[in-house]
Amino acid sequence: MPRRRSGPPREKKLTYQLIAKDGDVGRPMYALLDELVSEYHDDLERARIALAWCTSWKSDVDGHITIGKCKRASDLDRELAAFDFVILLSQHFWTGNFTKPTQRRALLDHELCHAAVKYDEQGEPKTDAKGRTIYRTRKHDIEEFEAIVERHGLYKRDLERFALAIRRAAQGTLPLEGEPAAESGGAGSPPPRPTTH
Ligand SMILES: [Zn+2]
Repeated sequence: MPRRRSGPPREKKLTYQLIAKDGDVGRPMYALLDELVSEYHDDLERARIALAWCTSWKSDVDGHITIGKCKRASDLDRELAAFDFVILLSQHFWTGNFTKPTQRRALLDHELCHAAVKYDEQGEPKTDAKGRTIYRTRKHDIEEFEAIVERHGLYKRDLERFALAIRRAAQGTLPLEGEPAAESGGAGSPPPRPTTH
């Protein structure tokens, strides 16, 4: 006979939680999203973007921890729900006491950079059979190891451009934040390195 576990039944933890647009938490987040779209992402003006918490991200063996991710809705997703993209955010990072508003803003802007419209050869937005705009996800400008830049310098164009952007940000009015490490690791372990996707 199976043994009955005492106490209340254990509930499965949820990995994702949609952030309601009209809730106390969601309202300022969607307002920031709208502000960033109209300021920097003209082509997304008509995109339907949902925000959701992801609570399952853990530090990997190298100490990277994901704080955001942008997912494009598949054709099937679009049949099921009225969204073109969902931006997943680490609730731990977003609501962390040490996370600055400028970091939240940068994170959301970063995720919006992944969302893009697909254009045809004439430069017109591509549409599907239902007349809906087709979207795509854009990759990062650079992917590189710190150690390679330290050893070999700016050995390719994308790194040169990135270094230039960093210098411009440092010279301009933008505050050059350090690494957005709002969380700290356990004693003796290096702090997690927040990573966006
Ligand atoms: Zn990213």
